[in-house]
Amino acid sequence: MHRSKPHIVVGGGIMGLAVGWKLLRNGIEQVEIFEAGEAGRSGAAWVAGGMLCPRAEAGFEDMDVYEEGVESLNLYPLLLNELREDAGDVAPAIDNCGTMMLATNADEVRELHRQFEFRKREGVPVELITGEEAREREPLLSAKVKSAMWLAKDAQINNRKLVLALRQAFRNRGGTLHEQEPVSEIVIRNGRAVAVLCGDVEHEASSITVAAGAWSSKVGGLWPNLSIRPVKGQVIGLRIQPFAKLKQPIRTPRVYIVPKDDGRLLVGATSEEVGYDKRVTAGPVMELLHYAWDVFPAVFELEIEELMASFRPATKDHRPIVGDSETNGLYYATGHYRHGILMMPLAAKKVTEAILKHRHTQTHFVSTAGAVL
Ligand SMILES: Cc1cc2nc3c(=O)[nH]c(=O)nc-3n(C[C@H](O)[C@H](O)[C@H](O)COP(=O)(O)OP(=O)(O)OC[C@H]3O[C@@H](n4cnc5c(N)ncnc54)[C@H](O)[C@@H]3O)c2cc1C
Repeated sequence: MHRSKPHIVVGGGIMGLAVGWKLLRNGIEQVEIFEAGEAGRSGAAWVAGGMLCPRAEAGFEDMDVYEEGVESLNLYPLLLNELREDAGDVAPAIDNCGTMMLATNADEVRELHRQFEFRKREGVPVELITGEEAREREPLLSAKVKSAMWLAKDAQINNRKLVLALRQAFRNRGGTLHEQEPVSEIVIRNGRAVAVLCGDVEHEASSITVAAGAWSSKVGGLWPNLSIRPVKGQVIGLRIQPFAKLKQPIRTPRVYIVPKDDGRLLVGATSEEVGYDKRVTAGPVMELLHYAWDVFPAVFELEIEELMASFRPATKDHRPIVGDSETNGLYYATGHYRHGILMMPLAAKKVTEAILKHRHTQTHFVSTAGAVL
């Protein structure tokens, strides 16, 4: 009996799992993910803050992040409903908690006001509040907080629950997960991506999606080469206590503190250009804790549970690489830098649409289902 070739995804991080699951949900029968380590746990998404905050991230030079971030955030509620259908109660809920950005000295206050004016001009919903007003919302903020920007429409999610739910949903939909199986090379013949190489075994594929995060440019066989570098982030995981609670992520120019619904309080993150060196080091940990203590003194008493580091996948212009490529049968879902949790719904939608479009043109299959959801 003729068996069609599977659609293969390289990398079982948040992007790979989401693309694999979405393909299955949209009627593709055979999807296989090859993951170098443990799907969901080995990538940056396991270490990330899980902030879904396009309004806080809106930058002077990249309003694309804001616009695409809002678009992606708007896709989250539907995606989470679908995830609940396929993974059950392990699917997380979104927390529409907002973001508070803090300033503690004259320079920071000036910069915060500049950022506020910029957002207001661009139509971003934002409020400027005094230190007193910030402490009314968050009584445990330090008296050093002079001014704050309140971004009520930002959100966050438990990113660990999210990747585990995606993994579960992918499997429940019949996807095949190969763990501890790094792909060393994409095999391209006659201008078409036809297989992935694992060890010395070639696995043939109908399509191949590269979603190997910060390691994407290490996957061989790609032409032109992907230019993605790892930007290291170190994070400290503290345990929340009743006397040290926050309602939403708070950020200063030097640190963020994010309360998670599983009792973790994340203090992050560094941004280091040190290649793939994953060691957690004393200096950044000391500085992050100091900066956190400066605005939220209650951290002093909290137990340190975890010290973590991972790599943001960064392109030269910090724009992601998503969808079709110049090579037939080859797709990308990578380069999401510091926004991969936020951008996951949009990226998975774009890649799935691109693969389905090719499949439909090849098989003259006419869909009545319309756009990918
Ligand atoms: C400290 C930190 C904080 C962050 N905070 C946020 C945040 O608050 N909000 C937000 O939106 N984003 C945040 N990010 C960014 C976000 O985590 C990333 O953009 C996102 O995880 C990228 O997803 P990915 O699937 O491309 O890569 P990853 O999540 O890194 O997954 C890549 C996977 O590919 C696997 N792999 C690698 N090479 C191969 C190979 N050759 N073959 C097979 N598998 C392979 C890896 O083992 C890994 O499992 C943060 C990142 C860091 C580091």
